[in-house]
Amino acid sequence: MFAEAAERLGAELVFATDRCHLIEDPWRDGAIPIRFYDEEASVQAIVAAAAARPIDGLVAVGDRPTVIAATAASELGLPWHSVEGAATARNKLRTRERLRDAGLPVPWFTSFSIADAIADLPISQSPIPILFPCVVKPVALSASRGVMRTDDAESLRAAVERLRSLVAAPDIRAERDDAHETALVEGFIPGGEYAIDAVMHRGTIVPIAIFDKPDPLDGPFFEETIYVTPPALSASVQDAIVDAVARAAVAIGLHHGPIHAECRVNPANVYVLEVAARPIGGLCARALSVRIPDADDLISYEEAVLRHALGTSPIGWRREQRASGVMMIPIPRRGVLRGVEGVDDARAVAGVDDVRITAKPDQVLVPLPEGASYLGFIFAHADRAADVERALRAAHAHLRFAIDPEFRVRPSG
Ligand code: ADP
Repeated sequence: MFAEAAERLGAELVFATDRCHLIEDPWRDGAIPIRFYDEEASVQAIVAAAAARPIDGLVAVGDRPTVIAATAASELGLPWHSVEGAATARNKLRTRERLRDAGLPVPWFTSFSIADAIADLPISQSPIPILFPCVVKPVALSASRGVMRTDDAESLRAAVERLRSLVAAPDIRAERDDAHETALVEGFIPGGEYAIDAVMHRGTIVPIAIFDKPDPLDGPFFEETIYVTPPALSASVQDAIVDAVARAAVAIGLHHGPIHAECRVNPANVYVLEVAARPIGGLCARALSVRIPDADDLISYEEAVLRHALGTSPIGWRREQRASGVMMIPIPRRGVLRGVEGVDDARAVAGVDDVRITAKPDQVLVPLPEGASYLGFIFAHADRAADVERALRAAHAHLRFAIDPEFRVRPSG
């Protein structure tokens, strides 16, 4: 989508991707090889490449490269989120501290070392009382990975054990990030959940969409499924959400570039759970089309993000009039994906724009809290958000997933 958008704009895209520098351009995309775990060398590689081929703007895709992007932007003199802000946004504990210090509503929270947590930790050694229900999460993972609600001391202990095996997983160890040794425990915030996509422009927020998440997210795990916009909220509640996200972004240090925030909203308050220094993830941006003053047609969100990176002001940008939404197709159970049926029927549902299965045949599917991916995405449009939600659910009901157990045990004899 970014490549298409760049082509429309007549801009040349230069990728910097996490891969080994010894392999000669394996994907034929001319990317600058960087290593996400080695921030300093990655920034140097980008700055060196920019000396030969000047870079006019920058976008981070996904959570992991945001600090590298912020540092590269600062070295290249490009306006972007601050390095400190990008680092804070990637760390759930630092985010809580910043929001608390800025006087924004936060649940009670404390942290502990996952490796040191002995049987009765974190309860007995916590400096503040642990109240139930609470939420336990590793401070630097994303996509709800490792996020668990616990309702009593016993389930908290089980969650800590589960976290310990999770952070020992090879893909997490490969990130070589010390932050994965720390977990956050915080009060469970009841209420509805909303995601906000916005562009920060020199410290001012330009909201693009508030997505409602109609499926209840009450735990024990927090799988994202449906996002629909506009939400069924009064204008004053929507304003309160945008205002809370703007304050949180500024408190964290995110002042120029796209942001994606998550909020829990209840009658008492708008709690900003996190603000990421990047656009909405996965393929979800396809659910967003933007009307901008200097183009006759709607443009894709990727194009809007690229235009902003290249210096266009986003003031006056609005999401399109129609309601739209996306379903991140949940993983029903652990196993090996053999195939998916019913995709054509799902695509034929009125209002559905596309169904994209992104999981590959023979891929091992891992559900939350250990997993970190979806089976795919369903996109829909309609006049009303309720019809978008209905279309997404109807399309999902057509899909049948063939999932084999991971290990076949042959009965003996
Ligand atoms: P991630 O960055 O991995 O998405 P989050 O901290 O945003 O991690 O948590 C993922 C999801 O877990 C949230 O979108 C929300 O549904 C739920 N969640 C996390 N913290 C809380 C909390 N304190 N109270 C209620 N729900 C929470």
